[in-house]
Amino acid sequence: MAEVAVLGAGFIGLSCAYWLMREGHRVTIFDPQGPGEGASYGNPGTFANYACIPVNNPDVFRNLSRFLLSSTSPLRIRWGHMPQLAPWLVRFLLSARQSNYEHSARALASLLSRAFEGYREMLATDALMSFVRQRECLYLYSNPASFKAAQASLDLRRSLGVQFRTFDSEGIRQIEPNLAPIFEHGTMFDDSWFLTDPRGFLQALHGSMTTGGLEHERVAISTIKPQRSGAGLVDEAGRSYTAGHVIVCTGALSKRFARQCGDRVPLDTERGYHVRFPGTSALLSRPCGWAERGFYMTPMTGGIRAAGTVELGGYGPRKNPDLLKLLTASAQQALPGLREPDSTWLGFRPSLPDGLPVIGPSSASPYVIYAFGHQHLGLTLGGVTGSVVADLVAGRTPPVDLNPYSPSRF
Ligand SMILES: Cc1cc2nc3c(=O)[nH]c(=O)nc-3n(C[C@H](O)[C@H](O)[C@H](O)COP(=O)(O)OP(=O)(O)OC[C@H]3O[C@@H](n4cnc5c(N)ncnc54)[C@H](O)[C@@H]3O)c2cc1C
Repeated sequence: MAEVAVLGAGFIGLSCAYWLMREGHRVTIFDPQGPGEGASYGNPGTFANYACIPVNNPDVFRNLSRFLLSSTSPLRIRWGHMPQLAPWLVRFLLSARQSNYEHSARALASLLSRAFEGYREMLATDALMSFVRQRECLYLYSNPASFKAAQASLDLRRSLGVQFRTFDSEGIRQIEPNLAPIFEHGTMFDDSWFLTDPRGFLQALHGSMTTGGLEHERVAISTIKPQRSGAGLVDEAGRSYTAGHVIVCTGALSKRFARQCGDRVPLDTERGYHVRFPGTSALLSRPCGWAERGFYMTPMTGGIRAAGTVELGGYGPRKNPDLLKLLTASAQQALPGLREPDSTWLGFRPSLPDGLPVIGPSSASPYVIYAFGHQHLGLTLGGVTGSVVADLVAGRTPPVDLNPYSPSRF
């Protein structure tokens, strides 16, 4: 069987490695970091198989002034990044037009409908299943007007096969009695679940695959060189490697590899934050999202993690104290039992402006395959992405139409 190099040890890379090893391939991960240290580390852990509505939906236009001007807006722009961001932002706004957004929603729903299948077998082991809590996600609205405005997107979800139930304030109180009585409406998505520790889950997966023969080269790759058969790799210290196939799963840092393999993809990042409130997990039984504030609170190992917000501002490490304050204050307002957080985190969602990932072979070579750009859904879509990549390496036609995710769609 082929020797496959997988670049990146996040949800996408490790899921690809899992599916490839299952088919008997010898797999080497290349990542200078350990498993789950990138964007995969700090998310709120929701298996969000209902989330087929891209962030840039037509509501963005209606709410633009609130998004840009309100002190409680969960969407921010780092204006200093505008020269690099502008072309991406224009495409992002164009993708929010009704027909484009419906196209993206349908394409996301098609992948999401297979998301659980992508994990089913992986979760058959107790070690991995111990991280899973089968509690559906509850999405909350504090303002009746925003719930009313969400009806069109809820109708679209329902037409795309997403099942959910709605609750009034009394129903919410019965499900999550520790929430402040500020939520007028809630939506609970059937068949969703969450992980108590996304990095712990990936470490356990990595550990079991290592026992099964997975290699991990702790190096950063700088260059991919497509060859007539297979591909070469060069790491940052100048060492060379070869592989039968290379799978690019380097999240928000994948753009330069696409460029080296003949594709210009407008990949940027939606920066997101989390704050952790230690020892508070008993306050909630499930992930609760606050729609107007753009974040989830999830009862995780070690405490409630409040995670979310979108900051358009590139890959720099500097955190935005305003967003961290907003996350902290919003979580405390929603859950009055919370005190002060003990840690904060900034992560980089790998995002294309149409809200869809890039999955498929590179223009330069069928031996270099892309799997990146899973924006707000990389945890959810890891398994199904891995299975599609295994199909491509085997030369099988995947059960999903890959055209919407093509690297040449831009
Ligand atoms: C605040 C927030 C909330 C989120 N909530 C959810 C959620 O509830 N549900 C959900 O499904 N998703 C969620 N997401 C999205 C999800 O976390 C990401 O889509 C996912 O982690 C992306 O996984 P990845 O494997 O593509 O990238 P990453 O996890 O970033 O992994 C990429 C890896 O590539 C490595 N790498 C980079 N450059 C190189 C190189 N040159 N050579 C070798 N290796 C390299 C990095 O070290 C890293 O380990 C959220 C994200 C954020 C930030």
